[in-house]
Amino acid sequence: MNNQEKKKLIISIDVDSPIKLMNFYRINNVVFDQNKLELFYETAFNRVLDFFNRLNIKATFFVVGDELQNSANIKNIILQAYKSGHEIENHTYSHPFGLATFSEEKIKEEIILCNQIIEKITGVTPVGFRSPGCSINSKVINIVADLGLKYDSSGFWSILIPLIKVFQSVLFKNGLNNADFGSVTNKLMQYPYIPSENNWLIPDTKSRQFLELPFPRTNVLGLPFYNCFNLWAPSIYTNYISKKTNKPYMMYLFHIIEFMDSSDGIPEELGVHPNIKTPVKDKIQKSERILSDLFECYELTRARDFVRLLLNNNCIANEK
Ligand SMILES: [Zn+2]
Repeated sequence: MNNQEKKKLIISIDVDSPIKLMNFYRINNVVFDQNKLELFYETAFNRVLDFFNRLNIKATFFVVGDELQNSANIKNIILQAYKSGHEIENHTYSHPFGLATFSEEKIKEEIILCNQIIEKITGVTPVGFRSPGCSINSKVINIVADLGLKYDSSGFWSILIPLIKVFQSVLFKNGLNNADFGSVTNKLMQYPYIPSENNWLIPDTKSRQFLELPFPRTNVLGLPFYNCFNLWAPSIYTNYISKKTNKPYMMYLFHIIEFMDSSDGIPEELGVHPNIKTPVKDKIQKSERILSDLFECYELTRARDFVRLLLNNNCIANEK
């Protein structure tokens, strides 16, 4: 298959620190201080940049503003990622859960502050947004679009969402700090579309300068297809799925924590998070195998190039 026939693949990575993950699992009694946080960013970014560099991947990093704001070291790490050709986009200021349930004013603040912090570091305004825990609805989408961003990539539905909603208190000791996954259903499209203002799940016929870039799910059962789930699933399953997956396009999702393990000073309490105890070496090996399967059918593209092409919009600032 030559490149022209290949469908597009975007690789994105959510930069969720142990602090934000502990918030998700409602672990409130563990201190993860600034030194540990900076060491986390340094070690994880060294590994992820090395991994992407080795596979010749330019990825999109969704970063949280408040962790960058007060640390010259972390700012510098983000700047180095940007200078290596990766995109730096908006994952809110403080990574609150249940964003879709917040007031308009609070949602705006979360997005604007994060934009400003990124712009100060890279000199480039973010055009992409991802809501923490994928808590998204029409209100959030419309605010993101009104603020001048060009795409949202929080559209995520899998069969596990309704299951987790029902069983979270059984599965996790304290339940999960994700009041709301947003207004997402199994009607969610699996291709890029312009979300309608009244109902973001429905593609708009008007030419709005804004896109939704949703995540894929498997055809059978509607299971998630992102790296954390794939690392957790047996290889016999992942090998089959990653070879067979055939979507109109692919948004593949990593989390920075997948480049760390329990030998890296991650609080023991986070052992509830999938794959934390799996050695980094094994996770990297498996991730690489999945990506090499995807590269057979999909052509890697950068999110900004992809969005610019689809919106036919020349005002999206490009790097360098
Ligand atoms: Zn996150």
